Amino acid sequence: MEIKADNSGSNSLLDGTLPPRLGRPHGSSPSVIVIGGGISGVAAARFLQNASFKVLLLESRDRLGGRIHTDYSFGCPVDMGASWLHGVCNENPLAPLIRRLGLTLYRTSGDDSVLYDHDLESCMLFDMDGHQVPQSTVAEVGDVFKKILSETEKVRNENSYDISVLQAISIVLDRHPELRQEGISHEVLQWYICRMEAWFAADADTISLKTWDQEQVLTGGHGLMVQGYYPVIEALSKDIDIRLNHRVKRITNGYNKVMVTVEDGRNFVADAAIITVPVGVLKANLIEFKPKLPEWKLSAIADLGVGNENKIALRFDNVFWPNVELLGIVAPTSYACGYFLNLHKATGHQVLVYMAAGRLAYDVEKLSDRDAADFAMRQLEKMFPDAPEPVQYLVSRWGTDPDSLGCYSYDLVGKPTDVYDRLRAPLGHLFFGGEAVCMDDHQGSVHGAYSAGIIAAEDCSRHLIKRLGSLEIAQLVSSREEILKTIVPLQISRM
Ligand SMILES: Cc1cc2nc3c(=O)[nH]c(=O)nc-3n(C[C@H](O)[C@H](O)[C@H](O)COP(=O)(O)OP(=O)(O)OC[C@H]3O[C@@H](n4cnc5c(N)ncnc54)[C@H](O)[C@@H]3O)c2cc1C
Repeated sequence: MEIKADNSGSNSLLDGTLPPRLGRPHGSSPSVIVIGGGISGVAAARFLQNASFKVLLLESRDRLGGRIHTDYSFGCPVDMGASWLHGVCNENPLAPLIRRLGLTLYRTSGDDSVLYDHDLESCMLFDMDGHQVPQSTVAEVGDVFKKILSETEKVRNENSYDISVLQAISIVLDRHPELRQEGISHEVLQWYICRMEAWFAADADTISLKTWDQEQVLTGGHGLMVQGYYPVIEALSKDIDIRLNHRVKRITNGYNKVMVTVEDGRNFVADAAIITVPVGVLKANLIEFKPKLPEWKLSAIADLGVGNENKIALRFDNVFWPNVELLGIVAPTSYACGYFLNLHKATGHQVLVYMAAGRLAYDVEKLSDRDAADFAMRQLEKMFPDAPEPVQYLVSRWGTDPDSLGCYSYDLVGKPTDVYDRLRAPLGHLFFGGEAVCMDDHQGSVHGAYSAGIIAAEDCSRHLIKRLGSLEIAQLVSSREEILKTIVPLQISRM
């Protein structure tokens, strides 16, 4: 077995130096350590295990899933991380697995928009005094927002340099005062900006005008995972050698081996490693690389933005809110706007989920759980003054959680064009997965992270076969191909 933990203290591996060449028993499979047990890591491990590699997955938390975190403490699944499948279509790389598992999707929007993952028809907006905003105003301001955004394209084309989306909106409003909104319409416009910020999990003054709408969103709209996302992780991770509570502190990329050191000092050695920890963790230098990462890799890590989004889930004894998918509060600034996802409509459970993105998400993390729940309740009481207290609440803290340090990546203003290529480029026997390195513009998503894991595993397996040549090529069956054989349709509860 090539993957091994070493506690002896006598082995030269312990001081971080690798032996010149470790013998490989005849016919034994190459070994790979996968670091991080989110969707990208378990997908990579699944692929390699299916292809007969020896795989060990090291995960720092006491659970798998990473930014997929389905909490069951309410007696029903509540996703505190990812909850939508963006792109309910056969081209979605996760569709075959979701089909095979028989998981239901509740389609909140049939639109491929990067602005909204829900339909405006099933959304009710209120002002700060609890008055409902007429649907006609919501629709009219929605049209104005589209017009403003289309005008920002002209601003983009005029400049060779990048600016923020917010700067571009302000230039457009200066040029076209007729697009400026007053009173409640201004507040609804801020709410649209708040929704746009939610997609990127970042404030509009940090989102790149050059790239914000360049993402190729998959078709088929946005579907909520009714049973939660965790069953996907569970299925992919079956029978893999997984070590929870193993926080990686150092990765030594040697001449012919990789040595991975975990928090308690133990070392694991393999032929290659796939790193799928969040880019926030790499930015914070929580893992030491030996030799140090080259400058081009470090600058790619530094040049990518990481957003933040948090959820405050509230469970009630009874349903006192209307049967719409989304309840929103409009306000004079996008920061003060807010919205709740109504899980009751999608799943039948009496749960509302308040969502905060960007600076607001960081501010929520400064509160205790009780105060965060009170904060969400104050928003709810603006709409429903007699709202009862929740019987249970849950609060996420993705921005300060040392195992995520942010919610997902996004393009900062002025991002160099080759950032993603540099991020995913392998280094010796190290390969990089995770949502941020995804190809095809699907960064920041579950399906993007899944694909990134598979691609890193494919690259890693090719590299090892070329180097060690000990596996039957015929054994390399892509887990994607294997799963694609299923022909069961996706189960969508709302068309
Ligand atoms: C609030 C929120 C809402 C979201 N909503 C959606 C959505 O609706 N739809 C969608 O498609 N996407 C959504 N996303 C994004 C999606 O969750 C991520 O893109 C995806 O899950 C990332 O998977 P990953 O495997 O790349 O990273 P992760 O899931 O973060 O996995 C990385 C793993 O590495 C582990 N790790 C960290 N440091 C170490 C270490 N030193 N040693 C060992 N292990 C370590 C972590 O614990 C983690 O398990 C959302 C994310 C958040 C936070």
